[in-house]
Amino acid sequence: EQFAGHLPTRLKGLDDALCGGIPFGVLTELVGPAGIGKTQFCLKISLLASLPASYGGLEGHVVYIDVESKFSSRRIIEIGSTSFPEIFHRKGMAQEMAGRILVLRPTSLSEFTESLQQIKVLLLQQQVKLLVIDSMAALISGEYDQGAPRQHSLGWHISFLKSLAEFSRIPVVVTNQVRSQRRDEVCQYSFQAQKNAETQEGTDKYDSHVVAALGIHWAHSVTIRLVLEAKSGQRYIKVAKSPMSPPIAFPFIITSSGIAL
Ligand code: ATP
Ligand code: MG
Repeated sequence: EQFAGHLPTRLKGLDDALCGGIPFGVLTELVGPAGIGKTQFCLKISLLASLPASYGGLEGHVVYIDVESKFSSRRIIEIGSTSFPEIFHRKGMAQEMAGRILVLRPTSLSEFTESLQQIKVLLLQQQVKLLVIDSMAALISGEYDQGAPRQHSLGWHISFLKSLAEFSRIPVVVTNQVRSQRRDEVCQYSFQAQKNAETQEGTDKYDSHVVAALGIHWAHSVTIRLVLEAKSGQRYIKVAKSPMSPPIAFPFIITSSGIAL
């Protein structure tokens, strides 16, 4: 087994494709257009990371970098009490679960950079089992236009996040919004994608239209890329890059109990 462990998403097809869930020790990227469900996905896995082990959780703390103020502990509690009523109906449990998620709201990239040392200490001292950054693109784009300073800063952050994931051996999940999707993505996917799956490079090239946001260094630094997209009113989650899975897409829905396949 290549990874130190996994955070199961409870989306069965996805967990099977990823050999257990979101791997520890590497960067996982969630890409997709506005409103597709990236934040909902992050809220769900944050809940799962904080859930007691007896319910299949990691019983850990979560550090959640909430760049655009989209985190909602009320929504976490809604997802929790619908998915795990037996836990959440216990007195004080909802508060305890929500309290395990430490939300940081940097208002600029430099504020985030400063908080990275604090995050590192938290990862060492606390039982942190998940780091979420929602979203990386928002964090970077607020600070720079295109050009050399942006690339330099981005490169530094990518390297730091990778090393954080490695030394703390936890999953690091980062979202990125993309503006548009290629037409007929899901339909055309299978044939070309299977061909591209032969090489990691091919897979990357195939998805270059969605990874353009942060550049090629970023694209190569993430170990898992999950692309969320909609077609004919149906949402799909696609394993677009993974060392252990061919490209494969699953339909999903968002309900009161969160993201479900
Ligand atoms: P952005 O890039 O703008 O941050 P996003 O990909 O993070 O977008 P989310 O905020 O995760 O998008 O998803 C928003 C969608 O989730 C809403 O449009 C809605 O369809 C769905 N949603 C949110 N809460 C609920 C709920 N309680 N019940 C059902 N669906 C919900
Ligand atoms: Mg969001």
